[in-house]
Amino acid sequence: MPSSNVPESSARDLTSQALHAVLEAVQDALFVTDPEGEVLYMNPAAKTLYGFEDRIDTHGATINLRDHSYEAFVFLTLDGVPVADEDRPVIRALRGERYRDVELLVQRVGDADPRVYVFSGHNIEGTPPLSVLTVRDETDRWRAERRYRVVFEADPAPSVIARLDDLRIVEANHGMADLTGFTVSDLTNRSLNDLEPFNQNTDFGVAVDRLRTGAHIHKVKLLLRTADGPEVQVLLSARAIEVDGRACGIFTYIDISELETEQREHRQTQDLLNTTRRDHADEKAVLAYLAIFDPLTRIANRRGLDVRLDDEVQRAKRYGHAFSILMLDLDHFKQVNDNHGHDAGDDALQQVARVLQGAARGSDFVGRWGGEEFLIICPESGPTAVLELATRIHTRIESEAFVGVGNLTVSIGVATFEANDSADHLFKRVDRALYAAKERGRNRVEVAPPGSADA
Ligand code: GH3
Ligand code: MG
Ligand code: MG
Repeated sequence: MPSSNVPESSARDLTSQALHAVLEAVQDALFVTDPEGEVLYMNPAAKTLYGFEDRIDTHGATINLRDHSYEAFVFLTLDGVPVADEDRPVIRALRGERYRDVELLVQRVGDADPRVYVFSGHNIEGTPPLSVLTVRDETDRWRAERRYRVVFEADPAPSVIARLDDLRIVEANHGMADLTGFTVSDLTNRSLNDLEPFNQNTDFGVAVDRLRTGAHIHKVKLLLRTADGPEVQVLLSARAIEVDGRACGIFTYIDISELETEQREHRQTQDLLNTTRRDHADEKAVLAYLAIFDPLTRIANRRGLDVRLDDEVQRAKRYGHAFSILMLDLDHFKQVNDNHGHDAGDDALQQVARVLQGAARGSDFVGRWGGEEFLIICPESGPTAVLELATRIHTRIESEAFVGVGNLTVSIGVATFEANDSADHLFKRVDRALYAAKERGRNRVEVAPPGSADA
């Protein structure tokens, strides 16, 4: 008769007493049952795991594992989905199914927290056939992993974990997704090299080599590629860690692009402050000047434009004079920065301001509305005059060579003040006209139809 599937050679050398001692010493819980689930043997680890120590001191005998499974436990997948009755580990083992390493959440009736058990099922032919169930408690490992995962995922600091040999990203968090514009799953399995726009450049390569030798990377300044193309300025810190037995690095980024912009603007303001102080002895006059001037282009800023626009509206209302405004936005200026750098972009903005002042009449008031947008207030100008100015500017910008960036185009909207208009209403109309110029393909002038803001 077929005895068991223990290999002959090893069984021959061990006494059954020795084999029994081995089973008793095994750390995993081990149950052997008949096809009905009656426990024929369980080792000490099994008794401890299932809390059977004080119920029996023989090996099983009075315990039915199938009944006990239903009485004492609720089984869930690691995602919290209840396991169907026929898929319970014991039931599968009793059916004679062989399976390995099934991880389940096991909620014991009366316990506060579920535990994570890893089950394997096995069967041994014979009379009676035997079912073997082994159970390993992995709760601590699982909790530690989950804690690390929760922390990693919830950490607002953009981070990825990548393998050090090929730089493949094995995990990325939401902070990283926010920073780069890629989704977490887009990032996973991509190479970290894809995110480094100049990976031939030494900075990143050197940093990674340092990690491979066990050193840390602390705040290395780099550019990082984002989903829609442009780069962001970041500081990279990293250290080597082991994940699933593989050498990996955890890479954390700090976005410093805004900081860089702030510092640049701060420098511009400082420069302007210094030159203004040279011209004006009186500190009050200096501050008044700074409040309404744009430090980069040295023309009026939004506040200056607002004051002047209100004045003009008052005058137009009182004396019935015509006046118009012109709003201009550089086309695809983001790309100019991306392609040539922010400093070249700044130079171009200064040059645009000079072109505008050159094209406007002495009585026109030119200001920088913000970013790459400019506004010109044209007193005593009706629709024809302002359209002429817009066309002149359009042509001049188009034919101007901008140092370091080449050619630029602009979109322009114009609007003329009407009786009973307000600054707000006029502004809405010019903004709409500009929007229409963008919508209709950019590099063009659009005139706001009368009263069009309410349309
Ligand atoms: P569109 O044709 O639709 O206007 O495209 P755009 O790229 O010009 O428009 P968007 O509003 O997307 O981007 C404006 C860009 O202008 C982004 C920003 O980097 C740049 N910009 C704004 N202010 C400054 C500045 O002070 N200096 C520099 N160099 N760039 C600036
Ligand atoms: Mg704009
Ligand atoms: Mg623009």
